Amino acid sequence: MDFDLIVIGAGPGGYVAAIRAAQLGLKTAIIEREALGGVCLNWGCIPTKALLKSGEVYDQLDHLTAYGISVGSKSFDFTKIVERSRKVASQLNQGVGYLMKKNKIEVIDGTAKLIKGEKSPKVVVSLKAGGERTLTAKNVMLATGARARTIPAAGLVPDGDRIWTYREAMNPKAAPKSLIVIGSGAIGIEFACFYRAIGCQVTVVEALPRILPVEDEEVSTAARKAFESRGLAFRVGASVKSLKASKTGVSVEIEAAGKAETLTAEVAIVAVGITGNVENLGLEDLGVKVDRGHVVTDNHGATNVPGLYAIGDVAGPPWLAHKASHEGVHCVEHIAGQAGPYVAALIPGCTYSTPQIASIGLTEAQAKEKGLEIKVGRFPFRVNGKAIASGDTEGFVKTIFDGKTGALIGAHMIGHEVTEMIQGFALAITLEATEAELHATVFPHPTMSEAMHESALDAYGKMLHL
Ligand code: NAD
Repeated sequence: MDFDLIVIGAGPGGYVAAIRAAQLGLKTAIIEREALGGVCLNWGCIPTKALLKSGEVYDQLDHLTAYGISVGSKSFDFTKIVERSRKVASQLNQGVGYLMKKNKIEVIDGTAKLIKGEKSPKVVVSLKAGGERTLTAKNVMLATGARARTIPAAGLVPDGDRIWTYREAMNPKAAPKSLIVIGSGAIGIEFACFYRAIGCQVTVVEALPRILPVEDEEVSTAARKAFESRGLAFRVGASVKSLKASKTGVSVEIEAAGKAETLTAEVAIVAVGITGNVENLGLEDLGVKVDRGHVVTDNHGATNVPGLYAIGDVAGPPWLAHKASHEGVHCVEHIAGQAGPYVAALIPGCTYSTPQIASIGLTEAQAKEKGLEIKVGRFPFRVNGKAIASGDTEGFVKTIFDGKTGALIGAHMIGHEVTEMIQGFALAITLEATEAELHATVFPHPTMSEAMHESALDAYGKMLHL
């Protein structure tokens, strides 16, 4: 055998798994057809955060007088905003290259396909540099990620020119003056916020009755209000009948509450979910079980084919970088015989809009659907000292406890930098903390995190500052 493990795909699932494998002494190779770091580092999580930061800073300039500061007129250079974001992506991409080298992981630039092997599938790589290599390994891990979903029946098919996916939206030639975003998940909302912040007219079309439909309903409602106050427009409960592009723009026919409407803009972004990269890998010939665009695995990432594993986006939802890394590490430790018993981890979700949204665990509606007796606490940032001092009073923290056991089962936040705070609740849930432990935890003053404490106190009628 050439390797102990071959990882296909060098996104945050694959490259992290490869590092862990090397640490555990497995002779490891990683095959990547495009760029180390995958969508997350090159076209997703990281470069969008750079764009959003530019948008935020630009937007904040309008509020400087409130801080006693005045500057001259404001303007931006779109090319430089995009260049900065590309530079950030490239820096991290090189960082992954360094990590591979340092861990003695062989990086193979090319496109992999599986063929039948004796104990595990063989990997045939069409090399970028030309030619082919056939490799054998005791274990093969699919970490091929996912791509934007298209809906051809409604014309939701990106053309790279007027109809974009996140990829074109991240690296356009110029900023559009008007934009229609189809889908109000994390991708749609983040781009809507960025382009709105730099002055674009943005309308978001969502098929379900509320935006960010996976979030707790109170958070969705507050988010819509906050985004509308910044000039974003929404059409919810709207089905897209057609999306057409011309030389000058796009037109979208929608129907909401029985009423037809045609929206027009320079550009449309299609952000209606993603689908796993399961094609052209030879999975059919090997008989690998695939269900609705993702490879079916057990809790350890094992597929139905011996020696073949799948982790991250290609193995199904939630489609998040940190879930992919977590699964990758667990899968490798399982392969090396070092994994503890499988524990289903709760995966926090973050949307880097303004204001930000972060959540973990059950929403109130989900907890009720499960028939749980719950205790719910809330605390608004508008009465939090640090938030007032900083001028970041928008939003709130909501916590949900199991009324019988006192366990924290859900936490939902909207507000400034809440994506940096949700980890406190993630740790609490992982440690199976109850309300007693959260109440006994000392939160530093003054911080916005005190709202987390107050929310937990509120669930038990002990809130102090409101
Ligand atoms: P999503 O599934 O989260 O959201 C898509 C939205 O589009 C849904 O609200 C859905 O109801 C709506 N929709 C579907 N079909 C539609 C139609 N025909 N017309 C109008 N609306 C329609 O998908 P996404 O936002 O594309 O993101 C893909 C994945 O990537 C998600 O799992 C997301 O969590 C993840 N992601 C996360 C982050 C982050 O953590 N910050 C950022 C980007 C992406």
